[in-house]
Amino acid sequence: MRIAVTGGAGYIGSHTCTLLLAAGHDVLIIDNFNNSKSDVLDRIEKVAGVRPRINQTDITQADALSAVFSDYRPDAVLHFAGLKAVGEAVENPLEYYRVNVGGSVSLFQAMENVGCNKIVFSSSATVYGDPDQVPIVENHPLRPTNPYGQSKRYVEKILEDWGQANSNLAAVNLRYFNPFGAHPTALLGENPQGIPNNLMPYVAQVATGQAAELLVFGDDYDTPDGTGVRDYIHVMDLAAAHLKALDLTVRKAGVKAINVGTGNGYSVMQMINAFKRASNREIPYRVVDRRPGDIAECVADPSFAFELLGWKSELGLERMCADAWSYQNSLK
Ligand code: NAD
Ligand code: UDP
Repeated sequence: MRIAVTGGAGYIGSHTCTLLLAAGHDVLIIDNFNNSKSDVLDRIEKVAGVRPRINQTDITQADALSAVFSDYRPDAVLHFAGLKAVGEAVENPLEYYRVNVGGSVSLFQAMENVGCNKIVFSSSATVYGDPDQVPIVENHPLRPTNPYGQSKRYVEKILEDWGQANSNLAAVNLRYFNPFGAHPTALLGENPQGIPNNLMPYVAQVATGQAAELLVFGDDYDTPDGTGVRDYIHVMDLAAAHLKALDLTVRKAGVKAINVGTGNGYSVMQMINAFKRASNREIPYRVVDRRPGDIAECVADPSFAFELLGWKSELGLERMCADAWSYQNSLK
């Protein structure tokens, strides 16, 4: 198939592109390199043995994007492009809605113009907000607590409405839990610019000595050791889920939301200890107050993904930490 991959130069998109290319698909990455570098294309080529096509277009530039679609005429779209920092979204919500919602609408318009009606969208478990119960099932109420999560919820809703109007639309909203890890070759991984917002990239920087200590945001949650619990998923497992979701769009029209997690929750302390083992380094940390807006626990019920896609996670915590550590070392 001819697959347009928005944000394909980024962390999750680049890993997914390696699998798409290896499966024989023709891949066009559409990325403005706002949060990635063009050398990722060489790395994808090294891993997959095939170079993806690239078009450096901003998804919010509707006319330019439509021109790319008229030219390439994709069979399907994987839509990763967007902004993803929760703190930044709280400070600058308009920019988040402009890019994440406005950019998505331009994309859907460009798809409609060329009769492309298969899409897999990068949604997030943040659409659930503070869950009533864990593990979380897909029909749990959606109550995002910040503009980033809202932007994901709006895009899901836009796809639902588009699906009501267009019975040929096949859309899958993949609700990612906490992606972590790197490509086993250490050629691809997550290399955040500036101070990382998320726990594990920060832990990796503390392990190398780039950051002095980790601040643990609260140890008084109602969890076994008091620190926050999340469902960390290996980025290669997540990438594999996209190929299964793509298969579903070929088999079936309709709009579906699917959790992509492992079903296993780990606390901040468990993650520190796992990374300590993988890296054989000390991870100095200090417990501070809770981070505003954080929740105690967020863990997926991944059974719908298995039922609908035949997908489940295969790589465990040790492997996530080992691969992330190899990648971190490769950056030196
Ligand atoms: P990333 O920042 O590494 O990748 C996003 C890519 O999109 C980057 O290459 C960036 O340059 C590109 N991009 C940004 N704005 C663009 C625009 N206007 N036009 C064209 N390209 C643009 O992020 P990621 O971690 O790979 O996340 C991919 C998607 O998954 C995002 O939509 C994110 O919200 C979602 N998601 C990520 C996580 C996570 O923890 N990483 C969790 C849940 C959901
Ligand atoms: N966390 C932490 N220190 C940090 C970053 C995160 O203790 O520097 C905690 C955070 O409170 C949460 C967990 O690590 O319990 C995962 O946070 P992250 O931001 O990675 O993911 P999210 O909260 O978005 O699920």
